[in-house]
Amino acid sequence: MSTIDQVLACPTLPSLPAVAVEVLALTRSPSVSLTDISKVVQNDPGIAAKILKTVNSSFYGLQQPCSRLDRAMSYLGLQAVKSLVLGFSLVDATRRVGGGPGTDLKAHWRRTIFAAAAARHIAQLTHAADADECFTATLFQDIGVLACVAALGDEYASTLATAPDDHDLLCRHEREVFPFDHTTVGAELAKRWKLPDVFTEVIRKHHAPDSSGLNHAPVVRIAALSMYISEALSTPGAQALVARVASKADAWFAIPAERVAELLKSTAASASELAKLFEQDVSIPNAALILAEAQESLVTGQLQMHREADRLKAETQTDTLTGVWNRRRFDTDFANAIEKARANAEPLSVVMLDADKFKSVNDKLGHAAGDAVLKQLAARTRDTIGALGTVCRIGGEEFAIILPAHDSKQAGQIAERLRGAIAAAPMDLSEVEGIAPTLAVTVSLGVASMEPGAGDETTADKLLAQADQAMYAAKSSGRNCVRTAGEARAADTGRRAADKPGSPDPAGALRAADGILRVLVVEDDPLAGKLLSMLLQRLPCTEVRLAGSGAEVESIFGSNDFAPCIAIIDNNLPDGRGVDLVAAIRKLAPSIRKVIVMTATPTPALSKAALEAGADGMVPKADMCKDIGRWVLQLLGPAAKAA
Ligand code: GH3
Ligand code: MG
Ligand code: MG
Repeated sequence: MSTIDQVLACPTLPSLPAVAVEVLALTRSPSVSLTDISKVVQNDPGIAAKILKTVNSSFYGLQQPCSRLDRAMSYLGLQAVKSLVLGFSLVDATRRVGGGPGTDLKAHWRRTIFAAAAARHIAQLTHAADADECFTATLFQDIGVLACVAALGDEYASTLATAPDDHDLLCRHEREVFPFDHTTVGAELAKRWKLPDVFTEVIRKHHAPDSSGLNHAPVVRIAALSMYISEALSTPGAQALVARVASKADAWFAIPAERVAELLKSTAASASELAKLFEQDVSIPNAALILAEAQESLVTGQLQMHREADRLKAETQTDTLTGVWNRRRFDTDFANAIEKARANAEPLSVVMLDADKFKSVNDKLGHAAGDAVLKQLAARTRDTIGALGTVCRIGGEEFAIILPAHDSKQAGQIAERLRGAIAAAPMDLSEVEGIAPTLAVTVSLGVASMEPGAGDETTADKLLAQADQAMYAAKSSGRNCVRTAGEARAADTGRRAADKPGSPDPAGALRAADGILRVLVVEDDPLAGKLLSMLLQRLPCTEVRLAGSGAEVESIFGSNDFAPCIAIIDNNLPDGRGVDLVAAIRKLAPSIRKVIVMTATPTPALSKAALEAGADGMVPKADMCKDIGRWVLQLLGPAAKAA
């Protein structure tokens, strides 16, 4: 099976023509002039002729025919020239791709040309982003498909053939067969081609437009909506697709339903012109027919249903106070991000952010001031993170930021930038009456990362717990700073708990010399085991290892990488009694400070047996269901002995 690197290293992969590379390089400089670009374009007579032809086509709708390239270019402007050079280059570069029996790229080009034409119209209608930029970014959004066809041939073509007209489905099918999908391949290729960032973002996110950060969100949404328009125009009779267009047009850009038919019509007209300019044989649908159907579907309940579903989905996933994603959305996004990182052998980072001494804001200035600060914290975080990641509020004054494809060093730098952005200027409290208009606020941040190639043992819970611990390490280092898991451990962890006023570390004396509390939980009931681990992991700097049987305990000690400070053992295990493990664990783990046995059926005889076996206590599991938080504290404290 091919990996993404093999695809990208494939010699049959298309490459960008020199003229495009040069224009891209030039336009990266803010001081570039049209004359500079003009010189480069003149050197490629093929592209120059095509640009002239385009200017004189109805696609640009020039009043007077124009025969000189420099004049044509000054009419078009920099952005448009750049997008045309890139567009024609893409078509040229990929002309030889496909053509094999299973790799008919007609459907691809029809889809792409319709979408690019639509993107331009949407941008012009909404002014949400530059029309030419949207046009080109949309033209490039499926370069991943072309790259896969070029590099993998039939191996990929059969997957493409399963869903040529439904790319959400295609992505799923790709992931079943390959360790990537066309969005990830395309985004990597875009990076290599040094395409502008917004292109990479469109290519990566056009099937998940709602997960794009604020910076590029308008262009990504325009590209996604364009694809929906393209799909609606390619599938006659599919009223649901037209309704989807109308619903998204309304939700994302407040385009009223009555404008949607117009949008479809002008897209069909432009697409036919564009197909000629790109010399692609694209069948143009019967716009009148589709419009008649569209009209019908726009007034049926379909649209209403779409809207309602979208609204509900957004509502249940956003935090009402701050407008960022909520915990529920975080859980799904984070799990997906981990899966994707693993499949693509990419790094992934998560940052925990917690406001410093936030309770005192509420106490001194009132809850309204606290709320205002939270809103601004969220806004600043969102502005700083932009397209780099996803910002979620996962607790009262706690935010988590998912940073796909960032390793711990890069994530640390981003976290530091964010910390600086928040500390740099006080929060505006002018909307709250009767208090000072501004307030300086700082945050502490913790970073945890998963390296490329991480195994199944890296779970969402673990990664988040590590970020949380790193964040607490930042608190103990004096707050208003960033700590990274792993690095944080050595430096600060031991001090952390003592530092937090009002919450003495219940496990203080049990910790290892490096400040970490390592707990071995032996429990065969998966739910009880998970619950217990989660609670233990809420304690600062705590690592939990779960074993489901005596045999698993042996293998943990056999691998010699975990030296527990505490063991909590269920007495009823599939391969024997917990009490019988006590002595063995004490022997195997000289570092152990406390061994506790739990039982669902406590009897005085059992308690006695546990103590005789060398346990520090026997605790009834029934208490676990009542108030598990307190129960855990009891396990750690002297109360365990008495039980
Ligand atoms: P530290 O620097 O150690 O994090 O101190 P802290 O005071 O920020 O931490 P602590 O967790 O003790 O306090 C968090 C406070 O956040 C408690 C609660 O009053 C406040 N809070 C949580 N959610 C909200 C909210 O939605 N609105 C407001 N105004 N306050 C909230
Ligand atoms: Mg807190
Ligand atoms: Mg706090």
